[in-house]
Amino acid sequence: GKGIAVFTSGGDSQGMNAAVRAVVRMGIYLGCKVYFIREGYQGMVDGGEYIIEANWSSVSSIIHKGGTIIGSARCKDFREREGRKKAAYNLVERGITNLVVIGGDGSLTGADLFKQEWADLLDELLKDGKITPEQRKKYNHLFIAGLVGSIDNDFCGTDMTIGTDSALHRIIEATDAIVSTAYSHQRTFIMEVMGRHCGYLAIVAALTSEADYVFVPESPPPEDWQRRLCDKLEQERNVGQRLNIIIVAEGAIDRNGHPIMAEDIKKVVVDNLHQDTRITVLGHVQRGGNPSAFDRVLGSRMGAEAVMALMEADENTEPCVISLDGNQAVRLPLMECVKQTKAVAQAMADKEWEKAVQLRGKS
Ligand code: ATP
Repeated sequence: GKGIAVFTSGGDSQGMNAAVRAVVRMGIYLGCKVYFIREGYQGMVDGGEYIIEANWSSVSSIIHKGGTIIGSARCKDFREREGRKKAAYNLVERGITNLVVIGGDGSLTGADLFKQEWADLLDELLKDGKITPEQRKKYNHLFIAGLVGSIDNDFCGTDMTIGTDSALHRIIEATDAIVSTAYSHQRTFIMEVMGRHCGYLAIVAALTSEADYVFVPESPPPEDWQRRLCDKLEQERNVGQRLNIIIVAEGAIDRNGHPIMAEDIKKVVVDNLHQDTRITVLGHVQRGGNPSAFDRVLGSRMGAEAVMALMEADENTEPCVISLDGNQAVRLPLMECVKQTKAVAQAMADKEWEKAVQLRGKS
């Protein structure tokens, strides 16, 4: 059977375990040898006990767990060619030529680069006497399928990334809790949510918590946002509302590209309206806890589809990323999605916000 390895890389997210489980079981079902690589690319570079063969029961009782049981890491070595050569050796030694990478755009970029270099790396390993001519010939091609695990929903090409829905559940639980205490004391709460340069979590959090104001990176507020914010809060109180909720994305910026921090907003509210104002930074709670039903199903479907894609690949097949399009799992060219995701980041850096939103597409 074919050798497949699955690993998680970059920041963790809920639902990664469901994906790992699906890859292992679908792979075994189809007669493959499936391996875990622990601690992302670091495990691939270090080899040894970091690359372990999985069996059916090694992924029992993990679908409901948050995070990733096989560990994730950022890895400097893999950014260097020397590190990737070590990784190639560790894979060839075990007969692994199929990779399922679960991570963000950085992890997927690394995987693509690895594939482009694969044949050359093997030539060098052969020259160094590290692998045999038979191995060189047999393992000539590396196949890659990527899954996007991220709570930020910031990747182009997929409607939802694995983990976003669970993060929203965490956020909603927290906003509901804050709303009840804010009501009692007639307070104003500023809630900071994650998402890096993507406002998806903040927008959905604002919609579902009846927030009065939301700050997101893709739509910096007008120059006079301080006045508009105060007018809005005051207006709500004047009609009898006992509290105000303001959601701020961690990447929120003004029209000059400068960060808008929760502290800045608080100062505006306190100085102008003298409201009892508190800040809640949700932080890593958002990435933790059990995955939602949606993320468990999403991870499972994506993991199974990744194995199918690898099984159907031939030497001309380019790396793909498994995406959700409507309710369909689809395969898209990995590098095109990564390039578009990077183009969004560039548009944001250039303060071309409308372009960024357009490029990002449906997600
Ligand atoms: P997150 O969205 O959580 O940040 P990510 O996958 O984008 O996830 P990164 O830290 O960018 O996170 O990348 C994870 C790892 O992938 C890096 O530590 C590195 O080992 C590898 N990697 C990223 N970019 C490259 C690259 N250009 N070349 C080789 N390896 C890379």
